[in-house]
Amino acid sequence: MKTTDFARVKSVALPKKILKLALILCVVILCAALLYACNRYKLYFVLGTDLEINTEGTGGSDLTERIYEYIASLENVLSPSIPGSDLYRINNAAENEPVVCRDATMSVMRSAELAFLLSGGAYDPSVYPLVKLWGFDSEAFGKNGQGAEVSPPSDEEIAAVKRLVGLKDAFEINYENKTITKNIGYGGAMLDFGGVAKGYAVREALRLVGANQRALINLGGNIGVTGRSYTIGIGNPRPADELFGKLTLNAGECVSTSGDYERYYTLVCDDPETGEKTSYKYRMHHIIDPRTGKPSGSLSGQSGEETLISVSVIAADGALGDALSTAVLVLGKTKGSELLNSDEVREFGVKAILINASLDYQTAGGLGFSKS
Ligand code: AMP
Ligand code: MG
Repeated sequence: MKTTDFARVKSVALPKKILKLALILCVVILCAALLYACNRYKLYFVLGTDLEINTEGTGGSDLTERIYEYIASLENVLSPSIPGSDLYRINNAAENEPVVCRDATMSVMRSAELAFLLSGGAYDPSVYPLVKLWGFDSEAFGKNGQGAEVSPPSDEEIAAVKRLVGLKDAFEINYENKTITKNIGYGGAMLDFGGVAKGYAVREALRLVGANQRALINLGGNIGVTGRSYTIGIGNPRPADELFGKLTLNAGECVSTSGDYERYYTLVCDDPETGEKTSYKYRMHHIIDPRTGKPSGSLSGQSGEETLISVSVIAADGALGDALSTAVLVLGKTKGSELLNSDEVREFGVKAILINASLDYQTAGGLGFSKS
């Protein structure tokens, strides 16, 4: 009886258990498939940098592809090094020769011009001749490599090239006719949207995200989110690759970071503050102060306290935020904070975190920031 009972129980219980197991397995597979369909993470390389797209909600894979394709399409318009792009045509045009531009170019130009005006020229998209002189155009930087020891240009070379920089003097911008023209005497002037284009691309790409979808788009450190808020890590400028702290990015906001650690060379020179010969290696980085024609910070005569090495700007307008992060890095701690706290900038709901060369930080615009 016991044996029979046992056998009977076993023979009934076994398929039931299997059925239960199979059911659980089905549910797990279904959930995984559903999650896979809803949550998508994809990494691309575009505009010379990494593009990370994280989407939640239905239609994720279509969305990531559309975002990628949109951003990739901007490269042929905005890159100064691709023949046929608007920037290439402008930079290679003769004086007084109007260059008809695509809508995206004029739209980026609007944000660039606004940042130029707000920052008193600290952000200046006509800085490209200086960017090239210091070897930070993609071609030269690609050849030399991050951290390479290179000689700085001479004061005479800087003065000669600086003459070509100045958006208002060098270019005529006509938004109605969609033309950008080099002024007489500025044949060598050139535009560079490197400080604004990524923020613009992210801002515009967020428009592709549907109402029932959530997304985080990270284009080389220019991050935009929509659909929900996300916690974002701010990188430590020294040592790089560590976390400095975290902030919350609300739906519809973008954050752009400018830093002296993103692209730099190593310079062995006399101490610019004391004039003494020193083995101290100054960081010769890619953000140029148009007023001095040199990388901003110590090489432009700022003290360590004033020298900013990382600035993150949070704004709904990612293009403006991107350009302002570059501007504030150039201006330094005091003037940069003044700009962020000015009525004109506050109107755009801008928040920011500024980190100086001593790794002291301050926030602006009521940013909530938690230090690691
Ligand atoms: P970001 O990382 O957004 O600060 O952009 C830096 C890039 O902007 C550089 O690599 C240059 O291509 C360009 N750039 C450098 N200095 C300036 C400046 N003062 N104003 C505008 N763009 C600049
Ligand atoms: Mg920028």
